[in-house]
Amino acid sequence: LIDFPFSKVLVLGLAKSGTAAAKILLANGIAVKVNDMKLKEEDLEVKELQEMGAEVIVGSHPLSVLNGMKLIVKNPGIPYENPIIVEAEKRGIPVITEIEIAYRLAGDSIIGITGSNGKTTTTTLITEFLNESNKQAKVAGNIGIVATEVAQSLRENETMVLELSSFQLQGVETFRPRIAVLLNIFEAHIDYHKTFDNYKQAKFNIFKNQTSDDYLVYNAEDPTINAELGNVTANLVPFSVKRKMDQGAWLNEESIYFKDEKVIDLKDIVLVGEHNLENILAAIAATKLNGATNEGIKKVLSVFAGVKHRLQFIDNIQGRLFYNDSKATNILATQKALSSFHTPVILLAGGLDRGNEFDDLAPYLKRVKAMVVFGETKHKLRQLGQNEGIEVIETVENIEKAVERAFSISDEGDTILLSPACASWDQYRTFEERGDMFIQAVHKLL
Ligand code: ADP
Repeated sequence: LIDFPFSKVLVLGLAKSGTAAAKILLANGIAVKVNDMKLKEEDLEVKELQEMGAEVIVGSHPLSVLNGMKLIVKNPGIPYENPIIVEAEKRGIPVITEIEIAYRLAGDSIIGITGSNGKTTTTTLITEFLNESNKQAKVAGNIGIVATEVAQSLRENETMVLELSSFQLQGVETFRPRIAVLLNIFEAHIDYHKTFDNYKQAKFNIFKNQTSDDYLVYNAEDPTINAELGNVTANLVPFSVKRKMDQGAWLNEESIYFKDEKVIDLKDIVLVGEHNLENILAAIAATKLNGATNEGIKKVLSVFAGVKHRLQFIDNIQGRLFYNDSKATNILATQKALSSFHTPVILLAGGLDRGNEFDDLAPYLKRVKAMVVFGETKHKLRQLGQNEGIEVIETVENIEKAVERAFSISDEGDTILLSPACASWDQYRTFEERGDMFIQAVHKLL
């Protein structure tokens, strides 16, 4: 651990990342107390941590856990209003998240990616571009792989490609990625951060500790990011889908360029979606700075069909193209998906009712020839379709039925798209489960 002057640390909220952080701190001879609301004395990870020497308090969050503590490592899921955090702030005990520990292990080897949308896709592309260019890279962070674990096993010359949520970034102290990527900033997660300004500031933490040796790759078309550039110390590397960028990544009708160098022709890219061009440009900019080759980049983009559940191409069955965009849990994501196709679309949508209306989807329904709706929001979506004059609107029970019905009303050349515009929790445990049901149902058609 580089630069870690804390002798007694409280890990608040275990889960995978907290457990990993606690173990690494213990292994480095630091006194660790852990406190978790949900775990029980008899749970395996509790026993394991106790055996390694940690003091473990489970089942409640008594304020006394703070006594003697010099630092708190907070799970990103725990809100800042938690009484322990409030009290810690009163007592002047710093509160960080696990990525801060990962940074003290990985040092200069980090490419960090954040943004409201596109993080996982860009993180995946960056990792693959580097690996295909014989630059070893490992993916970690918000993508579902514990950052400290990867950081600890990182070898000489390996890069850690770290997806970062605003929750993780809010707890940044000294974290400093050598290359930071800031994709976009929309209104999101206001429930957690309270105000858009707090949310923005959390995202900006990605470059706050960067020096003039570092790089910030950013979306030159994002007004919120542009307004903040005056506070950036790192070298600026913009990307734009609209204009030529002398110092960054850009495109014209035919090809993608990094500065003056052509990298790839658009016709050689499998991934669909205008928004994915932004993710590709960001990933090209970040990896060209890190020694990726055009050959490596081309090799990836000629086969990469999308991250699972994100506008992911599944199959062509009798001329019908099936796409799984189960991750589209809000209207904005479904707008993006619908903007990505130039063929007739049969849209599969519906899910948890959060009390919102769907009128903002209306302008995007031009190519939608039919809708198959399900879940709690099916009536609202049916109404929307009717208002927009969509002729075929089918109401079904679940994804499996939706796939069958969509196929039966489809013609050759149609795109059958699952992009629900709603969370999955009314019928499925996660959006992943919903997407997997879709994929299974599509394969059943074969
Ligand atoms: P994240 O990890 O930030 O949630 P993903 O790469 O998983 O992002 O993409 C999630 C969804 O966000 C996609 O299905 C798409 O609808 C939308 N999206 C992806 N990239 C962008 C982008 N650059 N701009 C706007 N929306 C995007």
